[in-house]
Amino acid sequence: MKIAIIAHDGKKADMVAFLLNYKEQLNQVDLISTGTTGSHAEKAGLKVHKYLSGPLGGDAQIAAEAAEKKLDLVIFFRDPMDKHPHEPDVQMLMRLCDVHNIPLATNPAGARLMMDSMFKIQS
Ligand code: PGA
Repeated sequence: MKIAIIAHDGKKADMVAFLLNYKEQLNQVDLISTGTTGSHAEKAGLKVHKYLSGPLGGDAQIAAEAAEKKLDLVIFFRDPMDKHPHEPDVQMLMRLCDVHNIPLATNPAGARLMMDSMFKIQS
């Protein structure tokens, strides 16, 4: 199973708090991320393959994996109260999740439902 995690700056603390709830499960999956989000996850003790930082193309790299149907879940905690220079890349990633029917959670409540469901099915 391969899961992508991305969090805008205003949501990185939420992402780390969320990931810590699933540390055991996440250590059994391939975790990929944008650069800075991945650094935060590593500091929290998770093993993660980091792509470029989002504004430098990291979202686009993850979008490419979505296009190739290599992802089972995308968790993208977006900050709706801030502007982002790489918004076109963000839109591309979300569009490709829809094109390929990849589960996409954009906030902790949705992510929790998806993670609980995925790991229940697995066990
Ligand atoms: P970052 O990118 O993890 O490198 O900060 C996230 C984003 O797309 O804003």
